[in-house]
Amino acid sequence: MKKPVICVAGSANMDLVTTVQRMPMAGETIHGNAFQTYFGGKGANQAVMAAKLGGEVWMIAKIGEDTFGKDYMKNFTACGLNTSCVYTTKEASTGIAAITVQENGQNAIIVVGGANLSFSEEEIEKAAAAIGKADVLVCQNEINLNATLRFLQIARMYGVPTIFNPAPAEDFPDEIYRLCDYFCPNESEAAHIVGFPVKTIEDVKRAGKDFLSRGVKNVIITLGSKGSLLMSEGKTVLVETEKVTAVDTTGAGDAFIGTVAYFIASGIPVEEAMKKASHAAALSVQKRGAQKSFPNYAECGF
Ligand code: AMP
Repeated sequence: MKKPVICVAGSANMDLVTTVQRMPMAGETIHGNAFQTYFGGKGANQAVMAAKLGGEVWMIAKIGEDTFGKDYMKNFTACGLNTSCVYTTKEASTGIAAITVQENGQNAIIVVGGANLSFSEEEIEKAAAAIGKADVLVCQNEINLNATLRFLQIARMYGVPTIFNPAPAEDFPDEIYRLCDYFCPNESEAAHIVGFPVKTIEDVKRAGKDFLSRGVKNVIITLGSKGSLLMSEGKTVLVETEKVTAVDTTGAGDAFIGTVAYFIASGIPVEEAMKKASHAAALSVQKRGAQKSFPNYAECGF
């Protein structure tokens, strides 16, 4: 079987995680308990998930010419991603997320998009050939929005199906919705965009209809431990997930989208892709971390 080709145009962030007993006050210095770095960023996470399943994954990303950028490039290569569209810059730092986690589990996060936000017109157009050869394009909202919009336009021009994960959510231009074959928010992202709470299954369906009316072809709303809902014209399907004991849900949404992308690129029906994605995500929440918690094809038992 031909390997599915997945193109991911999105972010790469270094997650810098400090564990503390309590948060410092303004002007105060405290001792932290532990410090660890993780490879993160929604784009890279989703790309790594699709690669772990065996996809041919082309990463379109931008990193700084700094230590984190060099480490990230090595990580991309170690994960088997094609890096010909990973651009570098001296003008901005590699994206970072400075995460402080209190012992009671509460956290405070500062994200600096850095290089992720600096795709130039020339770099965007250089990626067109890679997008044109893909079976699916996946985007999120952690790079400059004009770049995401253009990547989606390029995919549409080539007839390549698009998956857009609107995270973090904002008021997107109308054209974005019309360019989405699969629009995949979680409940809070959906609520932010539609402007009403998305808590009950009725709310989820109302939000789904709203997105369809904006021109999205298919809506997939992820619902954490409640599963995910697919809506397209005349069709609504709830896909349940497995009951598991979650130890860390970081990256569950990325495991889900990376898997959905891999199976949509393989040509299987979207409900089947969602079932498999729920399984991969349910496995990932039982381990700590994001990329390192993602299962490979054999571990998924597909
Ligand atoms: P979320 O981004 O939290 O909506 O999660 C994405 C997907 O991961 C969900 O649609 C589920 O398939 C799966 N998932 C997330 N949290 C859990 C959990 N606690 N137990 C099982 N599956 C989960």
